Amino acid sequence: MKRCDICEKEFDENKKSCAPCQRIISRYDELPKSKLRPALHFAYDSVRSKGEERYFRCQYTGISSQFNPTAESVIDPVKDALVLTIDHVNPKDWDSDLVVSLHIINAMKSKLSGEEFRRLTIALGSHFSKAIEQEDFEKEFRRILHIG
Ligand SMILES: [Zn+2]
Repeated sequence: MKRCDICEKEFDENKKSCAPCQRIISRYDELPKSKLRPALHFAYDSVRSKGEERYFRCQYTGISSQFNPTAESVIDPVKDALVLTIDHVNPKDWDSDLVVSLHIINAMKSKLSGEEFRRLTIALGSHFSKAIEQEDFEKEFRRILHIG
């Protein structure tokens, strides 16, 4: 018996990961396994995962969900908002670490770093709830995005 490097469940095959975890890894052929495997292991939700189902937590929201359970390769950021995707922590650096993210958050985050996204959404929330003045919001917005 071996222990899966992602979910830590025991399995028989002579591989690093059990079959359900390996199916997720296989979908991301283009990504370095040395970064993908730790990202999945870190995000793994052992409480919610049952049988062949694997749940992981979104790095940015903490929401527990699954990777695309269908064979369809193209998923929509709104219709499939709660499907998990893999995100580069720093989208400007393709060698940066990987994290698990809900599809909608990954789409909203776009070219922002995790920290820029977090600060921007907090500022937006304050703006939408009218907790800060327009002028202060704009200043904060510019500060976060490093624009003059
Ligand atoms: Zn596993």
